[in-house]
Amino acid sequence: MSAAIECLQCGERQEAIRASQGTQNPIFCAGVDYFGETDWEADRHRFRDRSDRELVRMGVLPEYTHLYRRIKSRYEIADDHMVEKEASA
Ligand SMILES: [Zn+2]
Repeated sequence: MSAAIECLQCGERQEAIRASQGTQNPIFCAGVDYFGETDWEADRHRFRDRSDRELVRMGVLPEYTHLYRRIKSRYEIADDHMVEKEASA
């Protein structure tokens, strides 16, 4: 079996998503909050690696973009690798 590719937005495996398409319950790209309500919803799943441009837009310094091709959120970016560091309390 090859390594599972996951959607960068919802974290579902590509295989599972493909298998669900055309069934009664296709897997939508969405997140639910603590109460089980839909928190966000995307038009489509996202399997492509993130581009330099996209990562820089998220705040990653250009010299570190190669480390973050498959991150799911900006919270995975180390403070030292960001343009604007979070002020630590
Ligand atoms: Zn998704």
